Amino acid sequence: MHLRQVKISGFKSFADPTVIEFPSGFVGIVGPNGCGKSNVIDAVRWVMGEGRAGELRATSSMTELIFAGSAGRAPAGRASVEMVLDNSDGTLSGPWGAYSEVSIRRTLTRDAASAYFINGQAVRRRDVQDIFMGTGLGPRSYAIISQGMVSSFVKARPEELRVYFEEAAGVSRYKERRREAEGR
Ligand code: ATP
Ligand code: MG
Repeated sequence: MHLRQVKISGFKSFADPTVIEFPSGFVGIVGPNGCGKSNVIDAVRWVMGEGRAGELRATSSMTELIFAGSAGRAPAGRASVEMVLDNSDGTLSGPWGAYSEVSIRRTLTRDAASAYFINGQAVRRRDVQDIFMGTGLGPRSYAIISQGMVSSFVKARPEELRVYFEEAAGVSRYKERRREAEGR
């Protein structure tokens, strides 16, 4: 599986609809300070279901993620991020596993209403989180190494590290199911 495209509109500094292509192989995003490089990563973590504004460098509420306006530009009324994944190797299992391309989109309006879509179909946040479980991808997974994460790995207690091993081994999906079945 690999990330093919990220489409961002009205999210953080991306006022206009922007399509970022990720051909296979290495891709580097370069640019001057404050041009929006980290905002691309925030967009990816947000669309995968990140629920805490603080994790996305917003101070209080999620609506801060909506383009706030700039000199000569009115604020946006809505933020939208879509990630298009190449699933031709079938990494994503479950109801969307049969699709060679899976698109996940999340929108947010100023009244704080968030909506999720998979391949254009309205879904719950849960459904989005579900498709990544056990793949190593997800809003807080090790597929995205943010600043400070390497040192937190080094300092982590064994039980904290275990969470990452379980995700890598694909065990976390089953643990979550068991937790649910047991009503915990
Ligand atoms: P650095 O090289 O310093 O890490 P960067 O390229 O990663 O910079 P980002 O942190 O992605 O930069 O972008 C920061 C910019 O995004 C700031 O100019 C900030 O004003 C802008 N920004 C963040 N949220 C919003 C928002 N809701 N509306 C408009 N602009 C925003
Ligand atoms: Mg940055």
